[in-house]
Amino acid sequence: MASPHHSSPPRPIAWHVTRWRDDPFSRGSWSVLRPGGTAAHRLTLGNPIDGRVILAGEAVDRDQATMVHGAHSSGLAAARWAIDSGARSVIVVGAGMAGLAAARHLSDEGRDVVVLEARERLGGRTHSVDLGGVIVDAGAAWVQQFPRNPLGRLAESLGLHLVPTHFDRALAAAADGPVGPATAVRAAFAALAAAIDRDGPPLGDQVRRHLDGLAPEERRLAQFAIEGELLLESGSRLEDVSPHMLDEDGAAPGDPWLPGGYRQLVDHLAAGLDVRRNTVVRRIEWDLDGVSVDWLAADRCICTVPIGALDAITFSPGLPAGHREALSHLGMAAFEKAVLQFDERWWPVSPSGYLRWYDSPPSWTEWLDLTDVVGTPTIAGLVAADAVAEHHDGRSDEDIALAATAALATWAAAVEADPALSR
Ligand SMILES: Cc1cc2nc3c(=O)[nH]c(=O)nc-3n(C[C@H](O)[C@H](O)[C@H](O)COP(=O)(O)OP(=O)(O)OC[C@H]3O[C@@H](n4cnc5c(N)ncnc54)[C@H](O)[C@@H]3O)c2cc1C
Repeated sequence: MASPHHSSPPRPIAWHVTRWRDDPFSRGSWSVLRPGGTAAHRLTLGNPIDGRVILAGEAVDRDQATMVHGAHSSGLAAARWAIDSGARSVIVVGAGMAGLAAARHLSDEGRDVVVLEARERLGGRTHSVDLGGVIVDAGAAWVQQFPRNPLGRLAESLGLHLVPTHFDRALAAAADGPVGPATAVRAAFAALAAAIDRDGPPLGDQVRRHLDGLAPEERRLAQFAIEGELLLESGSRLEDVSPHMLDEDGAAPGDPWLPGGYRQLVDHLAAGLDVRRNTVVRRIEWDLDGVSVDWLAADRCICTVPIGALDAITFSPGLPAGHREALSHLGMAAFEKAVLQFDERWWPVSPSGYLRWYDSPPSWTEWLDLTDVVGTPTIAGLVAADAVAEHHDGRSDEDIALAATAALATWAAAVEADPALSR
């Protein structure tokens, strides 16, 4: 490791800064249950509409919502519905994981299928970019819930390189002293989750009440847990999250990432499909005879547009009341990445590649150091919830990359000044 740069951190030689929140084709990173929201709303949203149209994507999957394999599973379920209901031709809107899974299955089952994709690229909220010859995922990176994730099995069968992340062996530091063992933070989260009444008062109020009842050291651990689990997983203020979100899965210790990028899975699923890129769908209309999607007609339509971007589409004769009610209980997480590349690695090395920084208010909270795997000093920083607006609004990509670098330098200086911090 090189000597620390306390006064002025090195300048990155390359960076990629995401703006999922401002992107018109996502308007955020993943779906979140807003106050009053439950898993039942996700199920309702996935109900077929008049036997013609179905919404699919991560937001409508009950058991794996918010994640890539949830999108994949909901796309497959929608394709099965189309086949079971007798469709010969299907229009799929969106070429993210849900749309590609649906189209792949329909095509394999001999149905006519066309995919309409707004962007010039495939993959949606999976997006592998090339940074100085290194492939990095600007959207989803981890193959979450790996032991029971069908995309994990697909990656294995394709022989893709998978690198586990031992989240519970993070190099963790806090601005105000040692964090304590990961097991203690996890126990604090478990205690918090057990104390929250899922159908009780707003989550923010319940969390505050829980914190008030704790001794100072317990409260500090619980705050780390809230920052690490709730704010990062929901990309939202606690006031804007349903307590039921506590029952939705996220990343688990050991879940791997793909050094060759998620695009390897995307390209595999998309091979041979009829995907029309740069095609922004504006209207989905149906009657007893079939569906029209702008100028194109078919028996059924599977719409996988993220819930944040659904407003831009006119549904005629209209989404049913149950769907509209479900949508009113869902929102989009604010969660962004800055991937930074340097001439040399100047930050402390985490044995798991995973770094955690607890400061108040939270900023660049979580980092994945790719250096040992990709061979070039490269690290990805993640920022969530209110910190996104604070760090992104009105700033250029370069300003954001430099601010992320400064946060990493603060963390590195804290760890190096007091190695006990990083226990
Ligand atoms: C920064 C970030 C990190 C993440 N980390 C992880 C992770 O580590 N692991 C994990 O499992 N999940 C992660 N996720 C979530 C995961 O990326 C999503 O759950 C998943 O990719 C969603 O797939 P989807 O098919 O439902 O939607 P999308 O991938 O968003 O696909 C929808 C498609 O519809 C297209 N579209 C939108 N509007 C229109 C229109 N009007 N006309 C035509 N096409 C349109 C879009 O361009 C897009 O291609 C992350 C997401 C982000 C943003």
